[in-house]
Amino acid sequence: APVIGVLALQGDVREHLGALTAAGADARSVRRPAELDAVEGLVIPGGESTTMSKLAVLFGMLEPLRTRVRTGMPVYGTCAGMIMLAEKILDPRSGQETVGGIDMIVRRNAFGRQNESFEAAVEVAGVAGGPVEGVFIRAPWVESVGAGVEVLAEHGGHVVAVRQGAALATSFHPELTGDHRLHRFFTDMVRSAR
Ligand code: GLN
Repeated sequence: APVIGVLALQGDVREHLGALTAAGADARSVRRPAELDAVEGLVIPGGESTTMSKLAVLFGMLEPLRTRVRTGMPVYGTCAGMIMLAEKILDPRSGQETVGGIDMIVRRNAFGRQNESFEAAVEVAGVAGGPVEGVFIRAPWVESVGAGVEVLAEHGGHVVAVRQGAALATSFHPELTGDHRLHRFFTDMVRSAR
């Protein structure tokens, strides 16, 4: 089975480990550079991107993450993880770093106060079997993408799922539902990158 890590600095790590296992991956948490070296692919979970960024610096993980992503390791970011994969954030907190990997500009907390958390059926290109249940929690959206980025899903006229090469990102949290199709989709990306 493909060995897939979940970045375990902060956020909903356990839920992703469960969903990856259900999707047929050998899932393990990754907190240190040596643990990152041992995985074939990585999920960056939801949580709080400013905190995650600070912890990545503190744990000496930011540069190793950038290097692995730049050299083609498959990576999947959900919510705060999507923010971590953005080349640019609109209105970042001061000192907020990202890993990058997807040529996109992301707006944090984009859906606004009236609509902080909600669920919506989202049709994702490449994921068969009907829409997935998108759980959005203070979710970002993708403000704009570069030419190499595939838009996989939109909600309310805003881009909420993208892929660039081996990097995948969703604004929403498939790990919080019992539907493992996106984790299976990512596990297949890791398999085909072998
Ligand atoms: N709003 C959070 C952030 O900016 C992301 C929320 C989430 O991951 N559910 O990091």
